[in-house]
Amino acid sequence: MSSDSTVLIFLGPPGAGKGTQAARLAADLGLRKISTGDILRAHVARGSELGKQVKPIMERGDLVPDELILAIIREELSGMPQVRVIFDGFPRTTQQALALDELLADISAPVDAALLLEVDEAELVGRMLQRAKMEGRSDDNEETIKRRLQVYREQTQPLIEYYRERGVLKTVDGLGDPGQVYCRIREAL
Ligand code: ADP
Repeated sequence: MSSDSTVLIFLGPPGAGKGTQAARLAADLGLRKISTGDILRAHVARGSELGKQVKPIMERGDLVPDELILAIIREELSGMPQVRVIFDGFPRTTQQALALDELLADISAPVDAALLLEVDEAELVGRMLQRAKMEGRSDDNEETIKRRLQVYREQTQPLIEYYRERGVLKTVDGLGDPGQVYCRIREAL
């Protein structure tokens, strides 16, 4: 086991604040934030082949196929001399989690912690509708939000048990202002 590596994962429903918290934690701990959502949105914005392929999927609120996501992750990790990362929005399916474990086993960099941000559903919808006004994300509309929450329950929620069984799950109350939530995360680590 390499003691130099750090691998953190943010788990939680859409709108829980994973991106915000991951950015702050990455800056403070000197880790690289890898956000699959941001990477995909950048592809859509510049109209790459991948972007064209994933745009309709993201607009529906469905998940992009595992193979495409895993190709992104492999590329992001390749050539990193030292793996010091925070994953935001990945893994999102059991298949992705298994593949990540394999990738990490190859480079002797185990998952140190999976941080679960807990926020109730009414609050999540409110936050995403608010974000729609600020950032204009095309998947932050009521219909797509409902779909994303359903997809989270069906495909991503099982990962909570996955990481609990591995002894790395840390649950954090995601209600309150971002500063408060950040303090809880630091305590949990
Ligand atoms: P949120 O957490 O608010 O849903 P993200 O930026 O993490 O926002 O994801 C936006 C969309 O990007 C998802 O609805 C999905 O279509 C796609 N996506 C992001 N990460 C993944 C992933 N790991 N696997 C599959 N699809 C993903």
